[in-house]
Amino acid sequence: MRSGGFPCRFGGCDECFTVSDQTSMPALLAASALRSQHEVSVHGYTHVQLEENRRSPYAPAQSKRPAPAR
Ligand SMILES: [Zn+2]
Repeated sequence: MRSGGFPCRFGGCDECFTVSDQTSMPALLAASALRSQHEVSVHGYTHVQLEENRRSPYAPAQSKRPAPAR
């Protein structure tokens, strides 16, 4: 598994933007910005952020699945 970096969120794209310094917040934001820029310029895709997650850059990108109601 590749560690670090921001994979393109557009389906089917393998582009990944690595973070030069995992402990550096500016580096994380820079890689994130590059990724967003790539998504918009290459795919015309703008990822909508539902909430601010900047405090935990290591949090998994996937969202919680709602529990099935029974
Ligand atoms: Zn892409």
